[in-house]
Amino acid sequence: MISTDNVKKANSLKIETIIKNLKKRDITGYYAEDRSEALKLALDVIPEGATVGKGGSETMNQLGIIPVLKEGNYTLLDAFASTNPEVQKETKRKIFFADVMLTSANAITLNGEIVNIDGTGNRMAAVIWGPDKVIFVVGTNKIVESVDNAVDRIKCDACPPNCIRLGKKTPCAITGKCGDCLSLGNTTCCHTIVTRFSSIEGRMHVIMVNESLGF
Ligand code: SF4
Repeated sequence: MISTDNVKKANSLKIETIIKNLKKRDITGYYAEDRSEALKLALDVIPEGATVGKGGSETMNQLGIIPVLKEGNYTLLDAFASTNPEVQKETKRKIFFADVMLTSANAITLNGEIVNIDGTGNRMAAVIWGPDKVIFVVGTNKIVESVDNAVDRIKCDACPPNCIRLGKKTPCAITGKCGDCLSLGNTTCCHTIVTRFSSIEGRMHVIMVNESLGF
């Protein structure tokens, strides 16, 4: 029988390795034992009064940060707060000029490479060059060995539930298996981005949480 204590210990070692490797990439890593510790760490990084942008993220929902930001001294720009496509588009543009971008990662390698697959690309555009600070909150289910494994994980474990959530008619949403689709209005795998270094000192922060979060 696998002891959950041993899994937790192994995951804490993986997180330590990732944090060490993120440092080489000019990205600040943090260890959080659970989501409540992660929430505190995220709020420590977000300056009081900041405008905070957020894309669609199950991890952020599980973290419970949205109500905290709404009640606190922050301006929240939530791309999916409205179902109106024009309002969504406008909010996604505004997020590019926010003070902080809050997101998860689709996968992170033990070497510290952050891997994301994006549909329209607005989330990754903001991550690459938008807000002054970017905060990733990442659960242990996102940890992989290599960039190739990251893409496999995203197509096998992240896209099917995400496409179901979004009501997409993709092979992964219908059969659970990637069909390498190219379908206007459905395909969510449009841009694969590997972040391997931050060229702006102190901009990128990765909060690693020793529990499974999001997908
Ligand atoms: S390429 Fe299409 S079928 Fe494959 S994971 Fe992405 S959205 Fe799903």
